[in-house]
Amino acid sequence: MAETKGQKSRKLLKRLRDALAIEAEGQERLDRITSLIADAMSAEVCSIYLFRDARTLELCATEGLNPDAVHRTRLRIGQGLVGKIAADARPMNVANAPDLPAFRYMPETGEEVYSSFLGVPIQRLGETRGVLVVQSRDARIFSEDELYGLEVVAMVIAEMAELGVFVGEGAALSAPHTHPVVFRGTSAQEGSAAGHVLLHEAQIVVPDPVTDDVDREQQRLRNAIETLKGDIDDLLKGDIGAATEESRQVLEAYRMFANSQGWASRMEADVRSGLAAEVAVEKEQSANRARMARVPDPYLRERLHDLDDLSNRLLRLLTGQTVPTGDEVPDDAILVARNIGPAELLDYGRKLKGIVLEEGSVGSHAAIVARAMAIPLVIHAEKVTREAQNGDPILVDGDQGIAHLRPEESVASAFRDKIAMQQEAQQKYRSIRDKPTITRDGQRIRLYMNAGLMADLPSLESSGAEGVGLFRTELQFLIRSTVPRRGELARLYARIMDSAKGKRIVFRTLDIGSDKVLPYMKREEEPNPAMGWRAIRLAMEKGGVMRMQVQALLRAANGRPLAIMFPFVAQFEEFTEARDAVLREVEREAALGHEVPESLEIGAMLETPSLAFAPDQFFELADFISIGGNDLKQFFFAADRENERVRRRYDTLNVSFLTFIEQIARRCTDLGTPVSFCGEDAGRPTEALCFAAMGLRALSLRPASIGPVKDLLRRVDLSEARAVIDMARASGAQSVRDAVNTWLATI
Ligand code: PEP
Ligand code: MG
Repeated sequence: MAETKGQKSRKLLKRLRDALAIEAEGQERLDRITSLIADAMSAEVCSIYLFRDARTLELCATEGLNPDAVHRTRLRIGQGLVGKIAADARPMNVANAPDLPAFRYMPETGEEVYSSFLGVPIQRLGETRGVLVVQSRDARIFSEDELYGLEVVAMVIAEMAELGVFVGEGAALSAPHTHPVVFRGTSAQEGSAAGHVLLHEAQIVVPDPVTDDVDREQQRLRNAIETLKGDIDDLLKGDIGAATEESRQVLEAYRMFANSQGWASRMEADVRSGLAAEVAVEKEQSANRARMARVPDPYLRERLHDLDDLSNRLLRLLTGQTVPTGDEVPDDAILVARNIGPAELLDYGRKLKGIVLEEGSVGSHAAIVARAMAIPLVIHAEKVTREAQNGDPILVDGDQGIAHLRPEESVASAFRDKIAMQQEAQQKYRSIRDKPTITRDGQRIRLYMNAGLMADLPSLESSGAEGVGLFRTELQFLIRSTVPRRGELARLYARIMDSAKGKRIVFRTLDIGSDKVLPYMKREEEPNPAMGWRAIRLAMEKGGVMRMQVQALLRAANGRPLAIMFPFVAQFEEFTEARDAVLREVEREAALGHEVPESLEIGAMLETPSLAFAPDQFFELADFISIGGNDLKQFFFAADRENERVRRRYDTLNVSFLTFIEQIARRCTDLGTPVSFCGEDAGRPTEALCFAAMGLRALSLRPASIGPVKDLLRRVDLSEARAVIDMARASGAQSVRDAVNTWLATI
């Protein structure tokens, strides 16, 4: 009776495992594998190419090609058939390889005599690590079964490489996860931290990628899929599923995939071929990630993303891993993840000492939450999740946007010195915490802090802030899966006011839309969401939520003074409309017999250049104005704040922008409207100094930045700073930064 494809591949995998079980150096093992595969597949040649660096593949072992070519033959990714397989993450099966235009003749290998060519990517968790090739003289196409068999073997090679099986004297591979690696990313929150890696995604280590007991393995896989389906059904029945259409859709998609016969049966077939259940899931996940990279349609890509997430859940179930939250988080944990949502980040809590992400953006909500919690954050650390393992030592340099994984002692000790210096500086900041911010020429600057969570409030005291200049109320909405209720919000706002102990808090009404998408709100597809239906535009059209929020604020104040401001006001009328809506609520509360605030300030954020040119009446009616520099700068320079490439092009200290800030400050002063600046730039000492020199007397910034900003402001003479800026402006410089820094070095 002919062997089935499962039996054949099981036999080969078993031979492979037996061969690898024998004590040997890594290179010998690789050599043994190639000869074994060539023999099992009746091919004259079998070769393994592995990545030497991110772009170069190297012939690491061969049966059949010239042995002298091993470790000498190298290909760039995309070059030749092997390079193409690695670039596309797709197999290639051809009868006459030397005839193909992509074929690259490498004389040292002697491969031109082989016609047929079958190559598959060696992948792990969607990452291509090399290419496995068989070749033979006769011009034939390899069968489907042979292709499948080679893919399964490639999976096992990838797992074995991960386990360090091929390491040793003269070996092709250096030991995985042992060397220092530096990741150069982007800074999303300053500060330094040293600690140990905590991986957000499940870390899959499969001690034996080949199974002996196919039935047991199949049962393990089936049980895990059943549990997964049950979990999804529970979620759908629970709060999340019932309350929101968007999350419901995602869960329905999960359910569809989990129930899809194709998905389960492909993984079962892999197990029948001799793979451990985890490796079967990984194989499917790798194929899916390769598809995801090729799909241009965003909707389809999102669905494939769902499937990826589902594979992660399944891997967690199979390996029994759970995510630590709150107190379970180890003491010196540095979170390492591909990406993370704000809610998940809050689950980990403040115990995290640092965060390193492969993706993410400076303006994302995870970044805002990390900033609110003052956790150093590095984003765009390419491939960090592939390299890092739970418990690895890691240093996060949030100032430079660099992470050092498994650092050398010299780097670690220099880093310890840097942290010590920062702590010393903190000491100095603490000593001036309760002193007022008065410049050497007697100008009083008020420093407030930005906040968005109840957990931020203790910083009010520890930072010495005079109040909260911006409370981003949307964070409460963003981190939840359903709309918060009025009573609940009122209790929360009351607690926030209580802990401020009478210091002023400026509550900004819900600023959603743009990148801030509520999980339970139907997203409107817009070509340009940052300039679209967002913030006050959305709030006024969907009046219910803002009314509810204002009622909650009025009840929370319960007679105490209250300050409210509206985000993203672009013209006078928007302000009067929103202001009238608030005043109506005050009247309504009074009519219901509830206490109304003893004083009520209603202000506007100036985040679009248009508002700077609004009629005088606007400035007279607004009780205060807060410059939202993050948005204002993006619209002033027409440079997306979330697009690192263009964002970095325009300096905040560009003379045009500073002159614009100066004009706003002057107009507010002339018309008697209190004005402050609450964008992220206020937290950078040099920027803060220049804003003050332009006439601003109130800034709202991250609590951790108050010390450094206050320290600098107390040491400078603002009129001198002003003279330096004026000179730089007169010289035609594009930015005043160099001039100001040169001057600062002399004081
Ligand atoms: C701003 O735009 O400067 C601002 C403070 O608002 P947000 O960053 O929340 O958009
Ligand atoms: Mg804004």
